[in-house]
Amino acid sequence: MKHYDYLIVGCGLFGAVFAHEARQKGKSVLFVEKRSHIGGNIYCEEQEGILVHKYGAHIFHTSNKQVWNYVNQFVEFNNFINSPIANYKGEIYNMPFNMNTFSKMFHISTPEEARAIIEEQRAEIKGEPQNLEEQAISLVGREIYTKLIKGYTEKQWGRDCKDLPPFIIKRLPVRYTYDNNYFNDRFQGIPEEGYTVLIERLIEGCDVLLNTDFFADRQKYLDMADTCLYTGMIDAYYDYCFGALGYRSLRFENETLDMPNYQGVAVVNYNEREVPFTRIIEHKHFAFGKQEKTVITREYPVDWQNGMEPYYPINDAENTALYAKYADLAKREDKVLFGGRLAQYKYYDMDKCIEAALAMCEEVL
Ligand code: UDP
Repeated sequence: MKHYDYLIVGCGLFGAVFAHEARQKGKSVLFVEKRSHIGGNIYCEEQEGILVHKYGAHIFHTSNKQVWNYVNQFVEFNNFINSPIANYKGEIYNMPFNMNTFSKMFHISTPEEARAIIEEQRAEIKGEPQNLEEQAISLVGREIYTKLIKGYTEKQWGRDCKDLPPFIIKRLPVRYTYDNNYFNDRFQGIPEEGYTVLIERLIEGCDVLLNTDFFADRQKYLDMADTCLYTGMIDAYYDYCFGALGYRSLRFENETLDMPNYQGVAVVNYNEREVPFTRIIEHKHFAFGKQEKTVITREYPVDWQNGMEPYYPINDAENTALYAKYADLAKREDKVLFGGRLAQYKYYDMDKCIEAALAMCEEVL
């Protein structure tokens, strides 16, 4: 049996970047991937001539020029700018929170008027915000919190906004300009040929075993290489010895519609609690598609249970403390590395995932 320098468990973005760098250094790499395809959650598949993001919308954005240049070596990016719409009981608002949102919500037109209203509403929060609710009210006031944040967030995370960490809402820009760009980053776009091609090019020259569950024969796979990079759930790696970490999962409902344009934009959020899905994605708009049909996906957040795909780590106090115990075990391994959203229990965006992978390469390769 062939022996490899690296065994990588999970063929997602973190592992693929690591693999590319390892190959550049002349190392051999074997992937074991339990799914039937490469790419992890950035995997795309063509349907009706439209690239469909199978595990939820992925929009690449970064302020790190090194990371931007890195991905552009492999694929060309289009000029997509994410400008989602929020639908609250049929009222339409622009996201992220900006002058378009404020003018519609408060019937005002200038930054000064918007500031005055938000200042007044946020006065109820004294001191440093302790949870997501306080953080949100302190950023945009109670009215926007109630209509555009509370319902969406509580269905997304399955818990009260008072029990969630403030950092989650700080992902979203708040700006007093008429600018609907969802991100503040300098660089943004979607690979013209899709993310799967990016992964294919990153892992060129590696061997890949698909439909292969590492845990079905863990020792056999570990013995096939000098070092293992594990990118799966860290609690699973340690047989849940300290207990299971919390994750949020998603259920996607895809539909092909016989019409060219369903919602006029790639992402529409449904912000009230009563609608069971958080958003509808219309995939063609990520690539300015002109096809006759359209493919849409409703995204339903669900409690994660064994056997489901874990999408989001829940970085509340309890889970953070539990993760620290697993991280402590991981630190003591000398032949196993842990990287990516699941192994590091971190809400990584794609650019941060690449940064982390490159940092690991610097350290170990
Ligand atoms: N969020 C919200 N209303 C929205 C969109 C987002 O309250 O219309 C909150 C919600 O708590 C969400 C967080 O902001 O989990 C981060 O949103 P983002 O779009 O970054 O989430 P992702 O695309 O990673 O699911």
